[in-house]
Amino acid sequence: MSEILLDSQAFFHNLTFISRHLSAHSTSTKLALVLKDNAYGHGLEQIATLAREFGVRDVFVKTHFEAKRVQALFESITILYGAPDEPLAPNMAIAINNKEILQSLLPGTKVELKVNAGMNRNGINPDELEEYITHIVRAGLELFGVFSHNGYGDEVGEDFAMGCENFRAIKSVVARKCAELGIALPRFHTLNSSGTLRATHIDDDLVRVGIAAYGYLESDATPHIAQQLKPVASLWADRISRKILPCGAKIGYGGKSVLEAQSVVSTYDVGYGDGLYRVNERKILHTASGERILPRTSMDCFSCVSDASRICVFDNALAIAREFDTISYEVLTRLSPFIERTIVRRADKQNE
Ligand SMILES: *Cc1c(COP(=O)(O)O)cnc(C)c1O
Repeated sequence: MSEILLDSQAFFHNLTFISRHLSAHSTSTKLALVLKDNAYGHGLEQIATLAREFGVRDVFVKTHFEAKRVQALFESITILYGAPDEPLAPNMAIAINNKEILQSLLPGTKVELKVNAGMNRNGINPDELEEYITHIVRAGLELFGVFSHNGYGDEVGEDFAMGCENFRAIKSVVARKCAELGIALPRFHTLNSSGTLRATHIDDDLVRVGIAAYGYLESDATPHIAQQLKPVASLWADRISRKILPCGAKIGYGGKSVLEAQSVVSTYDVGYGDGLYRVNERKILHTASGERILPRTSMDCFSCVSDASRICVFDNALAIAREFDTISYEVLTRLSPFIERTIVRRADKQNE
Protein backbone atom coordinates (compact mmCIF):
# COMPACT_ATOMS: atom_id res chain seq x y z
CA MET A 1 0.00 0.00 0.00
CA SER A 2 0.99 3.62 -0.39
CA GLU A 3 3.35 4.94 2.20
CA ILE A 4 4.87 8.20 3.40
CA LEU A 5 8.57 7.92 4.10
CA LEU A 6 10.06 10.31 6.64
CA ASP A 7 13.71 11.13 6.14
CA SER A 8 15.03 11.40 9.70
CA GLN A 9 18.33 12.91 8.54
CA ALA A 10 16.51 15.68 6.68
CA PHE A 11 14.42 16.41 9.77
CA PHE A 12 17.47 16.56 12.05
CA HIS A 13 19.27 18.69 9.46
CA ASN A 14 16.42 21.23 9.52
CA LEU A 15 16.25 21.33 13.32
CA THR A 16 20.02 21.78 13.47
CA PHE A 17 19.86 24.61 10.94
CA ILE A 18 17.17 26.41 12.96
CA SER A 19 19.00 25.80 16.25
CA ARG A 20 22.16 27.33 14.80
CA HIS A 21 20.20 30.38 13.73
CA LEU A 22 18.86 30.68 17.27
CA SER A 23 22.33 30.34 18.78
CA ALA A 24 23.56 33.11 16.52
CA HIS A 25 20.63 35.49 16.98
CA SER A 26 19.26 35.01 20.47
CA THR A 27 20.51 34.60 23.98
CA SER A 28 18.63 31.53 25.15
CA THR A 29 15.56 31.17 22.98
CA LYS A 30 14.34 27.57 22.73
CA LEU A 31 13.09 25.85 19.61
CA ALA A 32 9.54 24.60 20.14
CA LEU A 33 8.02 22.45 17.43
CA VAL A 34 4.53 22.80 16.02
CA LEU A 35 2.95 19.36 15.67
CA LYS A 36 -0.59 20.44 14.82
CA ASP A 37 -2.61 18.76 12.08
CA ASN A 38 -0.90 15.41 12.38
CA ALA A 39 2.50 17.10 12.35
CA TYR A 40 1.70 18.91 9.09
CA GLY A 41 0.54 15.62 7.64
CA HIS A 42 3.81 13.83 8.42
CA GLY A 43 2.41 11.65 11.23
CA LEU A 44 2.16 12.92 14.78
CA GLU A 45 3.71 9.96 16.61
CA GLN A 46 6.58 9.56 14.17
CA ILE A 47 7.58 13.23 14.16
CA ALA A 48 7.12 13.48 17.93
CA THR A 49 9.48 10.53 18.39
CA LEU A 50 12.13 12.13 16.18
CA ALA A 51 11.68 15.54 17.81
CA ARG A 52 12.21 14.08 21.22
CA GLU A 53 15.29 12.27 19.99
CA PHE A 54 16.64 15.61 18.81
CA GLY A 55 15.98 17.14 22.22
CA VAL A 56 12.85 19.21 21.57
CA ARG A 57 11.02 19.69 24.86
CA ASP A 58 8.14 22.00 23.99
CA VAL A 59 5.49 21.43 21.36
CA PHE A 60 2.24 22.90 20.08
CA VAL A 61 -0.67 20.81 18.90
CA LYS A 62 -4.12 21.63 17.64
CA THR A 63 -6.36 19.66 19.99
CA HIS A 64 -6.44 17.84 23.29
CA PHE A 65 -6.75 14.63 21.29
CA GLU A 66 -3.36 15.30 19.67
CA ALA A 67 -1.85 16.35 23.03
CA LYS A 68 -2.79 13.03 24.64
CA ARG A 69 -1.08 11.07 21.90
CA VAL A 70 2.30 12.69 22.65
CA GLN A 71 1.77 13.27 26.36
CA ALA A 72 4.68 11.11 27.50
CA LEU A 73 7.25 12.72 25.22
CA PHE A 74 7.48 16.41 26.07
CA GLU A 75 7.85 18.81 28.99
CA SER A 76 5.21 21.16 27.67
CA ILE A 77 2.42 20.60 25.18
CA THR A 78 0.20 23.53 24.31
CA ILE A 79 -3.21 22.93 22.80
CA LEU A 80 -3.93 25.75 20.37
CA TYR A 81 -7.65 25.22 19.81
CA GLY A 82 -10.76 24.03 21.58
CA ALA A 83 -11.69 23.55 25.21
CA PRO A 84 -10.66 20.26 26.84
CA ASP A 85 -13.54 18.21 28.22
CA GLU A 86 -11.42 16.63 30.93
CA PRO A 87 -8.64 17.91 33.22
CA LEU A 88 -5.35 18.56 31.47
CA ALA A 89 -2.22 16.60 32.35
CA PRO A 90 0.35 18.67 34.28
CA ASN A 91 2.57 19.06 31.20
CA MET A 92 -0.27 20.46 29.06
CA ALA A 93 -1.45 24.02 28.62
CA ILE A 94 -4.38 25.47 26.73
CA ALA A 95 -4.38 28.58 24.56
CA ILE A 96 -6.88 31.22 25.61
CA ASN A 97 -8.64 33.25 22.92
CA ASN A 98 -11.83 34.17 24.76
CA LYS A 99 -13.56 34.36 28.16
CA GLU A 100 -15.86 31.38 27.64
CA ILE A 101 -13.00 28.94 27.67
CA LEU A 102 -11.59 30.44 30.88
CA GLN A 103 -14.85 29.67 32.65
CA SER A 104 -14.68 26.01 31.69
CA LEU A 105 -11.23 25.31 33.18
CA LEU A 106 -10.42 23.76 36.55
CA PRO A 107 -8.18 25.67 38.98
CA GLY A 108 -4.53 24.82 38.50
CA THR A 109 -4.85 24.46 34.72
CA LYS A 110 -1.99 26.00 32.77
CA VAL A 111 -3.07 28.62 30.27
CA GLU A 112 -1.28 30.50 27.51
CA LEU A 113 -2.92 33.77 26.69
CA LYS A 114 -3.07 34.56 22.99
CA VAL A 115 -2.86 38.25 22.21
CA ASN A 116 -3.56 39.96 18.90
CA ALA A 117 -0.40 41.79 17.81
CA GLY A 118 -1.72 43.07 14.49
CA MET A 119 -2.83 40.06 12.47
CA ASN A 120 -6.42 40.57 13.64
CA ARG A 121 -7.21 36.89 13.54
CA ASN A 122 -7.24 35.21 16.94
CA GLY A 123 -6.33 36.34 20.40
CA ILE A 124 -7.57 38.94 22.83
CA ASN A 125 -6.79 42.59 22.21
CA PRO A 126 -3.84 44.16 24.03
CA ASP A 127 -6.15 46.53 25.89
CA GLU A 128 -7.87 43.50 27.48
CA LEU A 129 -4.61 42.05 28.83
CA GLU A 130 -4.81 43.30 32.40
CA GLU A 131 -8.42 42.25 32.74
CA TYR A 132 -7.65 38.72 31.47
CA ILE A 133 -4.61 38.29 33.69
CA THR A 134 -6.61 39.37 36.73
CA HIS A 135 -9.35 36.96 35.73
CA ILE A 136 -6.87 34.09 35.27
CA VAL A 137 -5.33 34.68 38.68
CA ARG A 138 -8.73 34.96 40.40
CA ALA A 139 -9.87 31.71 38.82
CA GLY A 140 -6.78 29.97 40.23
CA LEU A 141 -5.39 29.20 36.78
CA GLU A 142 -1.67 29.26 36.06
CA LEU A 143 -0.53 31.92 33.58
CA PHE A 144 2.01 29.72 31.82
CA GLY A 145 2.55 31.81 28.70
CA VAL A 146 1.58 34.91 26.77
CA PHE A 147 1.96 34.75 23.02
CA SER A 148 1.00 36.31 19.74
CA HIS A 149 1.35 35.26 16.14
CA ASN A 150 3.25 37.49 13.78
CA GLY A 151 1.42 36.94 10.50
CA TYR A 152 3.90 38.91 8.40
CA GLY A 153 7.01 36.75 8.58
CA ASP A 154 6.81 35.87 4.88
CA GLU A 155 6.25 39.40 3.64
CA VAL A 156 8.74 42.05 2.73
CA GLY A 157 7.86 45.34 4.42
CA GLU A 158 7.20 47.07 7.70
CA ASP A 159 4.40 44.92 9.06
CA PHE A 160 6.71 42.24 10.48
CA ALA A 161 8.71 44.76 12.51
CA MET A 162 5.47 46.38 13.64
CA GLY A 163 4.20 43.02 14.93
CA CYS A 164 7.46 42.52 16.86
CA GLU A 165 7.13 46.00 18.29
CA ASN A 166 3.55 45.32 19.34
CA PHE A 167 4.64 42.14 21.05
CA ARG A 168 7.36 44.01 22.94
CA ALA A 169 4.70 46.37 24.25
CA ILE A 170 2.52 43.39 25.21
CA LYS A 171 5.42 41.88 27.15
CA SER A 172 5.97 45.02 29.17
CA VAL A 173 2.29 45.29 30.09
CA VAL A 174 2.35 41.66 31.20
CA ALA A 175 5.54 42.16 33.22
CA ARG A 176 4.04 45.13 35.03
CA LYS A 177 0.79 43.32 35.75
CA CYS A 178 2.54 40.18 37.01
CA ALA A 179 4.70 42.25 39.36
CA GLU A 180 1.59 44.01 40.65
CA LEU A 181 -0.16 40.69 41.29
CA GLY A 182 2.97 39.03 42.63
CA ILE A 183 2.88 36.14 40.15
CA ALA A 184 5.71 34.62 38.13
CA LEU A 185 6.40 35.95 34.66
CA PRO A 186 4.93 33.67 31.97
CA ARG A 187 6.92 32.49 28.97
CA PHE A 188 6.72 34.65 25.86
CA HIS A 189 6.70 33.67 22.20
CA THR A 190 5.57 35.18 18.91
CA LEU A 191 7.66 33.89 16.00
CA ASN A 192 6.86 31.08 13.57
CA SER A 193 9.33 29.65 11.02
CA SER A 194 9.58 32.64 8.70
CA GLY A 195 9.67 35.11 11.58
CA THR A 196 12.37 33.11 13.34
CA LEU A 197 14.58 32.72 10.31
CA ARG A 198 14.44 36.39 9.32
CA ALA A 199 14.89 37.78 12.82
CA THR A 200 18.37 38.96 13.75
CA HIS A 201 17.68 39.52 17.42
CA ILE A 202 15.28 37.28 19.32
CA ASP A 203 14.68 37.77 23.02
CA ASP A 204 11.58 35.61 23.51
CA ASP A 205 11.63 32.42 25.56
CA LEU A 206 10.86 30.25 22.58
CA VAL A 207 9.95 30.22 18.92
CA ARG A 208 7.18 28.09 17.44
CA VAL A 209 8.59 26.43 14.37
CA GLY A 210 6.42 24.42 12.02
CA ILE A 211 7.01 24.37 8.28
CA ALA A 212 10.79 24.94 8.35
CA ALA A 213 11.29 21.81 10.44
CA TYR A 214 9.49 19.87 7.72
CA GLY A 215 11.81 21.33 5.10
CA TYR A 216 10.01 24.30 3.55
CA LEU A 217 9.96 28.06 3.76
CA GLU A 218 7.98 29.96 1.15
CA SER A 219 9.05 33.37 2.34
CA ASP A 220 9.51 36.43 0.16
CA ALA A 221 11.48 38.04 2.98
CA THR A 222 14.21 35.38 3.06
CA PRO A 223 14.09 33.61 -0.32
CA HIS A 224 17.62 32.19 0.07
CA ILE A 225 16.84 30.13 3.18
CA ALA A 226 14.51 27.58 1.61
CA GLN A 227 17.37 25.92 -0.27
CA GLN A 228 19.10 25.17 3.00
CA LEU A 229 16.19 23.12 4.26
CA LYS A 230 15.41 19.55 3.24
CA PRO A 231 11.90 18.21 2.69
CA VAL A 232 11.22 15.40 5.17
CA ALA A 233 8.27 13.58 3.63
CA SER A 234 8.01 11.68 0.37
CA LEU A 235 4.84 9.99 -0.81
CA TRP A 236 5.12 6.58 -2.45
CA ALA A 237 2.46 4.67 -4.35
CA ASP A 238 2.38 0.97 -5.17
CA ARG A 239 1.21 -0.57 -8.38
CA ILE A 240 -2.32 -1.92 -8.54
CA SER A 241 -2.29 -3.06 -12.16
CA ARG A 242 -0.13 -3.09 -15.30
CA LYS A 243 -1.32 -3.07 -18.92
CA ILE A 244 0.25 -2.91 -22.35
CA LEU A 245 -2.04 -0.58 -24.26
CA PRO A 246 -2.05 0.32 -27.98
CA CYS A 247 -1.59 3.73 -29.54
CA GLY A 248 -4.87 5.65 -29.23
CA ALA A 249 -6.00 3.88 -26.04
CA LYS A 250 -7.90 6.13 -23.66
CA ILE A 251 -7.18 6.00 -19.96
CA GLY A 252 -9.32 6.83 -16.94
CA TYR A 253 -12.59 8.73 -16.40
CA GLY A 254 -13.73 10.54 -19.53
CA GLY A 255 -10.86 9.14 -21.56
CA LYS A 256 -8.95 12.39 -21.28
CA SER A 257 -5.54 10.77 -21.65
CA VAL A 258 -4.92 9.19 -25.06
CA LEU A 259 -1.76 7.20 -25.77
CA GLU A 260 0.41 8.45 -28.62
CA ALA A 261 2.21 5.12 -28.87
CA GLN A 262 1.87 1.62 -27.51
CA SER A 263 2.91 1.86 -23.87
CA VAL A 264 3.11 0.07 -20.58
CA VAL A 265 0.61 1.83 -18.34
CA SER A 266 0.52 1.14 -14.63
CA THR A 267 -1.99 2.27 -12.07
CA TYR A 268 -0.93 3.21 -8.53
CA ASP A 269 -2.76 3.32 -5.21
CA VAL A 270 -2.93 7.02 -4.41
CA GLY A 271 -5.81 9.31 -5.36
CA TYR A 272 -7.61 12.39 -4.18
CA GLY A 273 -9.20 10.37 -1.38
CA ASP A 274 -5.67 10.07 0.03
CA GLY A 275 -5.26 13.83 -0.03
CA LEU A 276 -3.43 14.18 -3.32
CA TYR A 277 -5.04 16.90 -5.43
CA ARG A 278 -7.22 15.63 -8.25
CA VAL A 279 -5.39 16.04 -11.55
CA ASN A 280 -7.76 16.89 -14.38
CA GLU A 281 -6.95 17.67 -18.02
CA ARG A 282 -6.07 21.28 -17.15
CA LYS A 283 -3.38 20.31 -14.65
CA ILE A 284 0.11 19.03 -15.32
CA LEU A 285 1.76 17.03 -12.61
CA HIS A 286 4.70 14.65 -12.73
CA THR A 287 5.97 12.06 -10.29
CA ALA A 288 9.34 12.62 -8.64
CA SER A 289 10.88 10.41 -11.35
CA GLY A 290 9.30 12.50 -14.11
CA GLU A 291 6.35 10.45 -15.41
CA ARG A 292 3.24 12.49 -16.07
CA ILE A 293 0.35 11.69 -13.73
CA LEU A 294 -2.32 11.07 -16.35
CA PRO A 295 -5.57 13.00 -16.08
CA ARG A 296 -8.07 12.41 -14.75
CA THR A 297 -6.95 10.87 -11.52
CA SER A 298 -9.42 8.93 -9.37
CA MET A 299 -10.34 8.86 -5.71
CA ASP A 300 -7.99 5.97 -4.99
CA CYS A 301 -5.58 5.73 -7.90
CA PHE A 302 -3.73 7.37 -10.75
CA SER A 303 -2.10 6.04 -13.91
CA CYS A 304 1.29 6.67 -15.48
CA VAL A 305 3.20 5.44 -18.49
CA SER A 306 5.55 3.43 -16.33
CA ASP A 307 6.58 -0.10 -15.55
CA ALA A 308 7.76 0.63 -12.01
CA SER A 309 6.19 -1.42 -9.23
CA ARG A 310 6.49 1.52 -6.82
CA ILE A 311 6.60 5.17 -7.71
CA CYS A 312 7.47 8.33 -5.77
CA VAL A 313 4.54 10.72 -6.16
CA PHE A 314 6.53 13.57 -4.65
CA ASP A 315 9.60 14.13 -2.53
CA ASN A 316 9.09 17.88 -2.51
CA ALA A 317 5.60 19.32 -2.12
CA LEU A 318 6.38 22.54 -3.98
CA ALA A 319 5.68 21.27 -7.50
CA ILE A 320 2.16 20.30 -6.47
CA ALA A 321 1.74 23.53 -4.51
CA ARG A 322 2.66 25.57 -7.58
CA GLU A 323 0.39 23.68 -9.96
CA PHE A 324 -2.55 23.99 -7.59
CA ASP A 325 -1.84 27.60 -6.62
CA THR A 326 -1.33 26.87 -2.97
CA ILE A 327 1.44 26.43 -0.41
CA SER A 328 3.44 23.45 0.83
CA TYR A 329 1.46 23.51 4.09
CA GLU A 330 -1.76 22.66 2.30
CA VAL A 331 -0.28 19.89 0.14
CA LEU A 332 1.18 18.25 3.25
CA THR A 333 -1.69 18.63 5.70
CA ARG A 334 -4.14 17.18 3.19
CA LEU A 335 -2.35 13.81 3.22
CA SER A 336 -4.71 11.25 4.67
CA PRO A 337 -3.84 10.13 8.21
CA PHE A 338 -4.65 6.58 7.05
CA ILE A 339 -1.53 6.37 4.88
CA GLU A 340 1.22 4.56 6.73
CA ARG A 341 4.15 6.73 7.81
CA THR A 342 7.57 5.13 8.10
CA ILE A 343 10.71 6.69 9.51
CA VAL A 344 13.75 6.10 7.34
CA ARG A 345 17.05 6.13 9.20
CA ARG A 346 20.29 6.74 7.38
CA ALA A 347 21.29 3.08 7.74
CA ASP A 348 18.00 2.00 6.14
CA LYS A 349 18.68 4.33 3.26
CA GLN A 350 22.07 2.83 2.52
CA ASN A 351 20.50 -0.61 2.43
CA GLU A 352 17.91 0.40 -0.15
C1 LIG B 1 0.93 26.87 12.74
C2 LIG B 1 1.43 27.79 13.76
C3 LIG B 1 2.80 28.08 13.87
C4 LIG B 1 3.84 27.54 12.91
O1 LIG B 1 3.90 28.27 11.74
P1 LIG B 1 4.98 27.90 10.61
O2 LIG B 1 4.78 28.94 9.59
O3 LIG B 1 4.59 26.55 10.11
O4 LIG B 1 6.30 27.89 11.25
C5 LIG B 1 3.21 28.89 14.91
N1 LIG B 1 2.32 29.38 15.79
C6 LIG B 1 1.00 29.13 15.72
C7 LIG B 1 0.10 29.71 16.71
C8 LIG B 1 0.52 28.33 14.70
O5 LIG B 1 -0.80 28.10 14.62
